[in-house]
Formats: sequence, C-alpha cells, structure tokens
Amino acid sequence: MSFAPFYRDSWAEVELSAIDHNIKELQKRLQPETKIYAVVKANGYGHGDIEVADQALKAGASGLAVALLDEALRLREAGFDCPLLVMGWTRPEDAPLAAEKEIAVTVFQEDWLRQASEQSIPKPLKLHMKWDTGMGRIGIRTTEEMDALLRQIEQNAIFRLEAVFTHFATADDEESDYYLEQEQRFENLFSHFERVWTKDVEFHTGNSAASMRFPERMKHFVRFGISMYGLYPSSVVKEERPIPLSPAFSLHSRLIHVKKVEANQSISYGATYTTEQDEWIGTIPLGYADGWIRKLQGMDVLVDGKRHPIVGRICMDQFMIRLDQEYPVGTKVTLIGKQEDQEITVDEVADYLDTITYEIPCMISSRVPRMYKKQGEQVKARHLLFS
Ligand SMILES: *Cc1c(COP(=O)(O)O)cnc(C)c1O
Repeated sequence: MSFAPFYRDSWAEVELSAIDHNIKELQKRLQPETKIYAVVKANGYGHGDIEVADQALKAGASGLAVALLDEALRLREAGFDCPLLVMGWTRPEDAPLAAEKEIAVTVFQEDWLRQASEQSIPKPLKLHMKWDTGMGRIGIRTTEEMDALLRQIEQNAIFRLEAVFTHFATADDEESDYYLEQEQRFENLFSHFERVWTKDVEFHTGNSAASMRFPERMKHFVRFGISMYGLYPSSVVKEERPIPLSPAFSLHSRLIHVKKVEANQSISYGATYTTEQDEWIGTIPLGYADGWIRKLQGMDVLVDGKRHPIVGRICMDQFMIRLDQEYPVGTKVTLIGKQEDQEITVDEVADYLDTITYEIPCMISSRVPRMYKKQGEQVKARHLLFS
C-alpha cells in the first residue's frame, strides 16, 4: 500500500475502527428498520470525507448527508453511488446538476421550485422538504407554505418528493420541553401532510443527540454526525452516555528543538512569558495556521506520558512548551489523544476554548496531514492540501 507523502512532523490520526464501532453501537439502539445517514459535511467534520464515508457505509450506513452541493459532487466523483443528501441550500440554477448526479436536495421555498422547474432538468430531481419546527433556520413553518410547495411538486413531473425532515435545536439539552414542542409541531404538520399527500415518502428528524437519546422515536432514518466520530454532542449527553462512543481523532507532533533557557528570559511574540528559573523549552512545528489557535496558550500537551504547558504566544507555524527535563529532538508530542495513562480529549480542548466539541476537529486546517488507521495499523495517509 502506498501512502501520500508528507514532509512535516505534525499530523492528525483518524482511527477508522472507531467510526465502525460508533455506527454499530447506534444501530444496536435504533429500531431495526431505522436507517443511518452518515453526516460527512465539512470534510467529515475535519476527519476526511471520503475515508469516513467509506468506513461508514461498510459499517452499515445507508446514505451520506452533507451541507453543500459541492461536497456531494466530490463524493460522487470519488465513486460513491449510495443515496446522497444536501441538507443546506442549493441554488435553483444548480438543480439540473444535482438531478444529473442523482443528489437529493433540500427544498423549502415555492419560488425555488418555480425557478428550478424553468431549467432543463435531465433526470428526476430528488427532493427532501424541510420543515422548520423550531430551529428557525431553514424550512417551511405553515400548512399554507406546505400546500404551495406540494402544488409545485405535483405540477412538475420532474420533481420527486423523496422525504420530509426537520432538525432539533435542543436535543442535547437536559431540559426536553422544547424538544417535545418541536416533535409536536412536526406531528401537526404531519397530520396535514398525510391528508394531502398520498404517495410514499420517508421521514427523518434525528441528529446524533436525538437518535442516541430517543432511538424509539426516530423515523425512517437518522442523520448521524458528531457521535459517529466518537464525540458527544454536549456534556449532558456525555454524562448520560446513552451509547459507548470511541473517539476517532487525535493530533500529534514532535519536538524539533529543545534548549535550556536561563531565568528571566522571554519566550515568543510579545514576550508574554518569562522563565522563572532555568527551564527546558521545547519547540513544536504547529501553529495557528494549522488550527492550533492563539487562545490555546496555556493549554497542556503530552510528552513522555506527562502534561506540559504551552508557554508564550502560539505563532503561525510553531509554539513552545515548558518541559520537565531535556528530551531528544523527535520526541512525540500529543495535543489530542493518549500517552500512557494521560489523555487530552477533544472535550478538554473545547472546554478550554469555551466552545463545543464540533469545532475542534473542524478547525484543524488542511495543512495538517491526516493519517488513517484501522485497529492501530496505518492504512492510508492524505495530505488535504494536495488531494
Ligand atoms: C450537521 C447536521 C446534522 C448532524 O448533526 P450532529 O449533531 O453532528 O449529529 C444533522 N442534520 C442537519 C440538518 C445538520 O445540518
């Protein structure tokens, strides 16, 4: 097997066996007839869309969901022939392209359907109608809007209404009142829909949080994103632990320079850190252009199974840490992941930055090569910058 070469000492690892495990664990909880769409938008939440999609389908996912038509096209071009859904906005002028590639698009505007119907569409266009039941983002909110959309769909033989869906705003909260309110609004719209539309369609409502916490309430399929990657959608769900997840992502580098710095010397831009005594300072070849942003100053990394703090400002391509002793150049540094009995989790980094887990792998930039493993064995590497 040949690996795309890269020539730097910082890389992310994606354990594909974890993706497999997480999908199978969810499957065990869901009703046997509920299918899984693997959500691989944003380059698979920073893990790599193609590799994750491939593993997810092998593990039993029935389709793939993304946010943008560009993302769906990339997957088709890579040879995926499974159902593909674009969950966000597609321009009406791109409807012919979506149809040609058999990519389902999300619709929620009468005008959109009118404009799309004026194009020459080569094949039936698969539509998923979005209902806004409380997210307030995209989707129809009333039965009048629904009727207007259904009329357009009925009048144009090229349109195929394949599914109807909604998205929950608070499925990962402790408090479930708003979640139940959204379900109720869905049911209200559904009872109208049932009366006016007799052809077969599928329904889908759940993201990771809803599908793990309320598996018996899921419809034809769920849209499984963050937890397929082994991360819980919130600390509430993490504590509940509805299914045991295994995180796929880790981030590593190596010491490229180690020196003893005497007391009262400053480190990095702005001289924000000054040594108090003789200190061993290590330099790591990763910086904010790789997504390790300046706000992570003060955060720990692992060297030799121990925690060491980032000292001084993080630069674009490098940062410094304070070591407890001298280590050789080339020593492995773990920014996210395990070393011996120590672990820095994505949750810890997210907490440090006062954000959610989703943001962390997404922010590790395309300059960081991704290395893929199965059961700990490297199977592939991809430098996103060049592929
Ligand atoms: C991103 C997204 C999902 C996946 O959500 P997770 O919380 O990551 O599981 C599901 N549905 C829609 C509409 C989305 O945009």
